[in-house]
Amino acid sequence: MKIHEYQAKQILQQYGVPTPRGGLARTVDEAEQAARDLGGEIWVVKAQIHAGGRGMGGGVKLARSLSEVRQYAEQILGMQLVTHQTGPEGTLVQKVYIEEGCDIARELYLGMVLDRQTGQVCMMASSEGGTSIEEVAATNPERIHKAWFTPGVGFSAFHGRRLAYALGLEGPAVRSFVSFAAGLYRVYTEKDASLAEINPLVVTGAGDVIALDCKLNFDGNALYRHPDVLELRDLDEEDPSEVEASKYELNYIKLDGNIGCLVNGAGLAMATMDTLQHYGGEPANFLDVGGSATTERVSAAFRILLQDQVHAIMVNIFGGIMKCDTIAEGVIAAVKDVGLGGVPLIVRLAGTNVARGKALLAESGLPIRTAESLAEAAEISVAEARNYAEQNNA
Ligand code: ADP
Ligand code: MG
Repeated sequence: MKIHEYQAKQILQQYGVPTPRGGLARTVDEAEQAARDLGGEIWVVKAQIHAGGRGMGGGVKLARSLSEVRQYAEQILGMQLVTHQTGPEGTLVQKVYIEEGCDIARELYLGMVLDRQTGQVCMMASSEGGTSIEEVAATNPERIHKAWFTPGVGFSAFHGRRLAYALGLEGPAVRSFVSFAAGLYRVYTEKDASLAEINPLVVTGAGDVIALDCKLNFDGNALYRHPDVLELRDLDEEDPSEVEASKYELNYIKLDGNIGCLVNGAGLAMATMDTLQHYGGEPANFLDVGGSATTERVSAAFRILLQDQVHAIMVNIFGGIMKCDTIAEGVIAAVKDVGLGGVPLIVRLAGTNVARGKALLAESGLPIRTAESLAEAAEISVAEARNYAEQNNA
């Protein structure tokens, strides 16, 4: 789960990790008030969306007067902010964070992720802060310094000092960095984060080390033990279809293609997408209805797929605990309930009670094409999607 920068900074502050002071605003008046409350002479107006790269897209502006705060808040609130992480359509900005301007001496980078290769949490630091760390990783990987933490032992000051020296920090900045890194490590582990990224991490003119930006993502499977984090969820930032899917416990991820896939099991869903692509098709989504799909869930899945304006729907079910006849009943009920609106439906069933399942589909009288194998189903789906697109000028 993702949260906004201002929320992430509130969590850092709870752990004593330094950030600039700031206030949230949903209107231009609130933005001015937030700047007045902060005092000072320089403020930064920052768009709050769940994506990075806001500065480059025009979503972060330095204001030198209250009237500039108003002017930038006016510009940014309501804008469709496009960054390299939002996709070309961008994201609507509904909130801005007004932050005190910071005296930046150096911009560094500090990130934390789970390194699956070593099975350990990894902290990454780089002197190339502020810019895209992906680019540094690609062109100058030696400029990224790493520390790994043995679970159960965790962070020690020497990890922090080693990174601080690698960054070329000196004097009191070393101690500030070590305490910052220790705090970030606690945030990451105690809150079950899956990513923590401070870019830039700033050394101020006074030698303090503070987080000028902060991105925190959380492990969705651990949210049950963090109700405080769950409260920070902002549904406005999530894809409406994905929100709807999560209500029915469907594992659904929207993709760019035009063939909707309804599959049971994540592995089978991956294989289905690969096979579609092999035959020249593009999946519109990843949708795993899980092992215990009810008619209600299958109907919800169909509704979501059809909202995506697909050109064909391919159902690929391997009946194990889940029986093929149950799935067939679900599909029939869903089609009757939701209606396909002319979108071709291709169903491939295999496994427990497959004969009964196929018979039900055949007897239903609904325009459902069946296929024996995954390859055949994919091939038919790709061809049907093309036909549908041609006939509908889609
Ligand atoms: P993003 O990563 O989404 O572009 P950041 O929060 O990193 O957004 O802001 C972009 C840049 O704006 C930073 O690299 C920094 O140079 C500048 N900036 C951000 N916050 C402040 C601040 N409080 N004071 C001064 N400059 C800032
Ligand atoms: Mg940043």
